[in-house]
Amino acid sequence: MKPADSPHPDIRNFSLEELENYFVSIGEKPFRAIQIFEWIYQKSAWGFGTMANLPKELRERLAKDFLCGPNAIAEKKISQEGTTKFLFDLSDREKIESVLIPTQTRTTACISTQAGCKFGCRFCASGIGGWSRNLTCAEIVTQVLHVKEEALKHQKPLTNIVFMGTGEPLDNFDNLFKAIKIINSNKGIGIGARHITISTVGLVPKIKELAKQNLQIELAISLHGYDNESRNLLMPVNRKYPFDDLVAACREHFKQTKRQITFEYILIKDVTCTAKAVQSLKKSFQGIVCKMNLIPYNPVSEFDHKTPSREEMLEFRNQLEGAGIHATIRTPRGRDVAAACGQLRHDSQKSDKADG
Ligand code: SF4
Repeated sequence: MKPADSPHPDIRNFSLEELENYFVSIGEKPFRAIQIFEWIYQKSAWGFGTMANLPKELRERLAKDFLCGPNAIAEKKISQEGTTKFLFDLSDREKIESVLIPTQTRTTACISTQAGCKFGCRFCASGIGGWSRNLTCAEIVTQVLHVKEEALKHQKPLTNIVFMGTGEPLDNFDNLFKAIKIINSNKGIGIGARHITISTVGLVPKIKELAKQNLQIELAISLHGYDNESRNLLMPVNRKYPFDDLVAACREHFKQTKRQITFEYILIKDVTCTAKAVQSLKKSFQGIVCKMNLIPYNPVSEFDHKTPSREEMLEFRNQLEGAGIHATIRTPRGRDVAAACGQLRHDSQKSDKADG
């Protein structure tokens, strides 16, 4: 049974207002909702039994009405530099990944929004097994709670959230925004909107809708191409939302929000890392405050592409900077624990199939 159809819902699917309504409906005071939020999102309670300021009868009633437990951890891998990757088993046996990425200046949780993915970006393992379903709001925030707990074990409070795990966040718009409100709320997890990033493949209508949300959230676009031809090669979504439409949506988003846009751009030898690419990017993004995150291609066994040499990547970055586009080369983290998007889930599916 899919979690959304469960007669015994997860309490983390409810907004503060919805919980207030629930408590009123059972003859309780609405402030109980704030107490529940504090226990779950601030004091890391994984059940109702420990909620000491709630009467015993109410705790028992809540335990009958709702789920509140942790996800089952199918696998947890820690890389040498401290990146921790979780593979979670959901109630319907779907598997999802989350990653804790600590650096000198921030501690980031990379969160999944769908089980599998339908967008099939050619460099990414997440699309290989296909799309199963959207994650619920509870499944999104519970990932954050697990990563937050892990970060605190290492005395590194969680500072940032990036929706860059498996799935396309804007394809699960309603559950994503419900989860973001809980993550952002000072009664909830309390991460500032400017520390939350949504990364999209470029769903043009949803980018426009996002601009209207009036939240200070960061937008990152998986660009990975500099015109239709190069983007078609890696991003099948470009056939539905062509490069020029995406550039126009970014321009509109920037005009409305005045917020810098980050472009994720994979450097693939002789494909995206060329002088022609620099010229096209310069022409397309003139007038938009943006930065390019250049990501060295992380080989996936199914696809035959190569990573450029260090010198080629530096030359590309310098040419972009010379063209007025701020660009940095991202240091790959956690390759030793398959931290690239979807690899752990994909490896697990492969071994599940091998096991029969
Ligand atoms: S990069 Fe994101 S949108 Fe593209 S296939 Fe992977 S998970 Fe899906």
